[in-house]
Amino acid sequence: MTRTQETSASWCRTAIWRPRVGKLRLALSLCFALFCGPELFAAARLNVVVTTPDLASIAREVGGDALDITTLVRPTEDAHFIDAKPSFMVKLNRADALIEGGAELESGWLGPLVQGARNAKLAVGAPGRIACNATVNMLEIPASLSRDQGDIHASGNPHYVIAPSNALKVAANIADRLSVVDPSRADDYRQRLRIFQDRLIAKQVVWRKALEPHRGRQIVSYHNSWPYFAAEFGLKFELFIEPKPGIPPSPAHLAGLVTAMKEKRALVIFVEPSLGRKAAETLVRSTGAVLVPASQFPGGIKGTEAGYVELLDTLVSSLAQAFAQ
Ligand SMILES: [Zn+2]
Repeated sequence: MTRTQETSASWCRTAIWRPRVGKLRLALSLCFALFCGPELFAAARLNVVVTTPDLASIAREVGGDALDITTLVRPTEDAHFIDAKPSFMVKLNRADALIEGGAELESGWLGPLVQGARNAKLAVGAPGRIACNATVNMLEIPASLSRDQGDIHASGNPHYVIAPSNALKVAANIADRLSVVDPSRADDYRQRLRIFQDRLIAKQVVWRKALEPHRGRQIVSYHNSWPYFAAEFGLKFELFIEPKPGIPPSPAHLAGLVTAMKEKRALVIFVEPSLGRKAAETLVRSTGAVLVPASQFPGGIKGTEAGYVELLDTLVSSLAQAFAQ
């Protein structure tokens, strides 16, 4: 047999056998997928519980399909006060990691849930307990704590994720910690982190440019949730609809606010889905201010469901539009 004949004969054998091997492989894969597949694939993904939708969006950017994410706070809820459902405890019991804002954002409800979940992977200090404030420079750390200041946070203002420079730090922290919990995917986490950071840094330039003409402008908000956003974009949030954290406004407080808004030329009001729209509308009637729908969470306002970047896109463009009025 010449070399060409031999080659062609062995090619024929391969050609004859290939379909059979193919069928066998297909049958085996079907059995695998039907009887063992779903459990094995599910087990291969990391079960991650995330407290808030902003952190969940960043975790999704970094972890992609490797993470099976459960988010506890809904986009339209106030993260300080949510109902701790028993189903949350079950999720925490089965979790490989817990990603939280820390700085006492969730302190009213998360502690008892984690305690009840009895999951050593989520103990404070364990690699799976990921507190995102760990790498952020916190603002407004009080010199002393006093109860008459309302619901004050000893670790500083916990609403830091809304500033893109902090989101960059949070993403890096999540990638580092996931790489410890799940070292087999460390390279993937780092690669996805780089892609997200590049996209965010490019967007940061666009957002800063859009708000640059409005540097120093005042915005009224219900709760003091925006100091990091203000610092990032050179804006000012000095007037709040609630007189103290967690305390609803009295008519006297609102009347004082109207005077202060006129004095400071604060004629844009951020209205968050969970907080005091009625009071904001009262202020609009007395001042002619513009209401801007706002949220700290993707999905909290229309058109931002896709994630963190889309949320910032919407906030920046609607603010620039309101300032231009
Ligand atoms: Zn707060």
